[in-house]
Amino acid sequence: MDKWPIGVFTSIDEGLGVRFGVVKELKIPTVHLHTPSREKRTPEAAAAFRRECDQAGITITVLFGGFQGESYADIPTVRRTVGLVPKETRAERVDDLKKISDFGRHLGVPAIGIHIGFIPESPEDPEFAELVAVTQEVCDYLKGNGQALHLETGQETAETLLAFIAAVDRDNLFINFDPANMILYGTGDPIEALKKVGHRVRSVHCKDARWAQKPGEEWGEEVPLGQGDVDFEAFLRTLDEFGYTGPLTIEREIPHDPERQKRDIAAAVQMLEALKRELAG
Ligand code: MG
Repeated sequence: MDKWPIGVFTSIDEGLGVRFGVVKELKIPTVHLHTPSREKRTPEAAAAFRRECDQAGITITVLFGGFQGESYADIPTVRRTVGLVPKETRAERVDDLKKISDFGRHLGVPAIGIHIGFIPESPEDPEFAELVAVTQEVCDYLKGNGQALHLETGQETAETLLAFIAAVDRDNLFINFDPANMILYGTGDPIEALKKVGHRVRSVHCKDARWAQKPGEEWGEEVPLGQGDVDFEAFLRTLDEFGYTGPLTIEREIPHDPERQKRDIAAAVQMLEALKRELAG
């Protein structure tokens, strides 16, 4: 694969990400894929989608898991409902994640991505150790399927994420770096954070955002690439310093407005291609 192939976040059926037809139309060579709903996670469905990708020359680089009952309505709701952090749903979601990994094996993907939830900041917190144990279990299961686990950034600082990864201590645990999430959640300057965690980054989301008035308490605003507070030239330069050559996967989550989503993604492709040329030249 060429250095920094363009990618986009898409889905089979969940309504998130851009429609697959648009991926083909824009001739985007790689995708991150939202996991379809449970009843569609069959080996047959995986094989069918894989065939469609193969025919279009599209490589699926990360399969993103999501869980029933998650809500991104506001930051406190994310804290309560997202990932493997909420205790009431943890066992069920670990089981679900293993099934998502199996679906990924049928798709032939090398990595599963997740929002794990808000990792406790202190390693002394008993919740931290519990989350470490459950992540080890997930990593070991994924390893059996030849996959890595990519933790999406945003819900914690770079330092907390690194401490957590060190504690889990598995060689298939990496980071999906989303610079906009650092702004949306108010967890730190994205480029400074990338400089700290870059050695563990194996996939990225190219998404842009503006800081909230009260970062960390309320959402920042997701905006089209190039219109927010992420410095994408610095982002690419920093990725380059760490030797990252993987896909630049555009994420634009406005499924309620598919026409605008398509326009914004097409513009983002242009912008990233221009930056790539600039940095190569
Ligand atoms: Mg993301």
